[in-house]
Amino acid sequence: MHEDRLRELRGEIDVINLQILELLTQRAQVVSAIGLVQQTLGTSFYDPEREAEMLTRLQQANEGPFSNETISALFNQIFRASLALEEEEALAKILVQRHYPDERTVIAMADGTEVGAGDFTVISGPCAIESAEQVDEVAGALAARGVRFLRGMGWKPRTSPYDFQGLGMEGLRIARQVANRHNMFIVSEVMDKSLISEMSEYVDVFWVGARNMSNTFLLKALGQVRQPVILKRSFGANIQEFLYAAEYIVSNGNPNVILMERGIRTFETRTRNTLDLSAVALLKLETHLPVVADISHSAGRRDIAIPLARATKAVGADGVMFECHPNPPVAMSDAKQQLSIPEMHALLDEIMDEQRVLA
Ligand code: PEP
Ligand code: MN
Repeated sequence: MHEDRLRELRGEIDVINLQILELLTQRAQVVSAIGLVQQTLGTSFYDPEREAEMLTRLQQANEGPFSNETISALFNQIFRASLALEEEEALAKILVQRHYPDERTVIAMADGTEVGAGDFTVISGPCAIESAEQVDEVAGALAARGVRFLRGMGWKPRTSPYDFQGLGMEGLRIARQVANRHNMFIVSEVMDKSLISEMSEYVDVFWVGARNMSNTFLLKALGQVRQPVILKRSFGANIQEFLYAAEYIVSNGNPNVILMERGIRTFETRTRNTLDLSAVALLKLETHLPVVADISHSAGRRDIAIPLARATKAVGADGVMFECHPNPPVAMSDAKQQLSIPEMHALLDEIMDEQRVLA
C-alpha cells in the first residue's frame, strides 16, 4: 500500500522534473534570442541590474516553503548557466576560433617565408636596440643560423620610469638597416596607436606587448595595418581574454595575427613568470592562428632556456622567441635572461632540425 503511494509520488516528481527541464530549455532559447538582439545593439549579455530586478520579482512572488535566500540561490544558478551558455555560443562564433581540426592561418611574408605552416619559427634579437654594433653582432649570428625574425625594439615598457626606455625611432632606423643587411624581418613593439604610421615604414611585423594586450584602441588600429601582428598574452589574462584581444585585431580587418604566450603571474618566485605550456596546447586546439612562446620573459633567466625551448616545440608551438645579446651582463634591460651568442647557438642546435642548422 505505502509502496504504491511512494511509487505514485515519485512518478509525479519525475513528471515535474521533466516539466522543469522543459521550462529551463525554453528559458535558454529565449536567453539565446536576447543574446542575438544584444549583439546587434552592441550591449553585453551580463546585466546585473536586470538580474537584481528578476530576483526581487521572484522574492515578491515567493509564498514558501523555500526561503527567499534559497529561491535567490537557485535562480542565481540558472542565471549563471544561461550566461555560460551565451559565452560559449559567442566564443564558438568568433573569427579566431578553429572550426575544423586542420584549419590554420599561415602568415606569409613578402618573400614567401611562412609562419604557422609547420616549420618551427625562431624570433630573436636583443631585448632593446642599444646601438648599431650591438644589434648587428646579434643579427649577423642569428642570420647565419637561418633565423629571419629580428627583434627591433625601439621602445621598452619598463616598470620604473627611471630605467632605460629605448632609443625610440632612432632604434628602429638602426634595426631596419641591420635587418636589410642580413635579409631579416623586423618585429617591433608598438606602445601606442599614435606611433603606428611612423613605425610602418620600418617594421615588417608589429608587436603588442603584454601590458597592451587589453588596449582595445591599439588592437583596433592594428586591424587596419598591412603587416602581421604578434600579440602577447598579458601576464594577468586568461585564455578567453587573450582570444578576444586577438579577435579585436582580426575583426577589424587584419587576419594575420600570431599569438605569443609569455608566462603568467603565479606564486612562484624562482622564475619571473610561469610559462603556461597548457595554454600553448589549448590555443593550438582552439584557434587557427599560429602560436609561439616567449621563453625569456616567462622564465626571466637563461639557465633553463634550452629545456623550455624544447618543451615549447614538443607541446606543438609554431615557434619560439628568446632574447639574445652580444654581452648580456651589460645589457640595458633584461640582463638576466638574454642569451649570449654561444648560448643562442647551443639552443638552436637543440631545436632546429639538421637541414635548418646547415642552411
Ligand atoms: C618583450 O618581449 O619585449 C617584452 C617587453 O615582453 P612582455 O611584453 O611580455 O613583458
Ligand atoms: Mn626584454
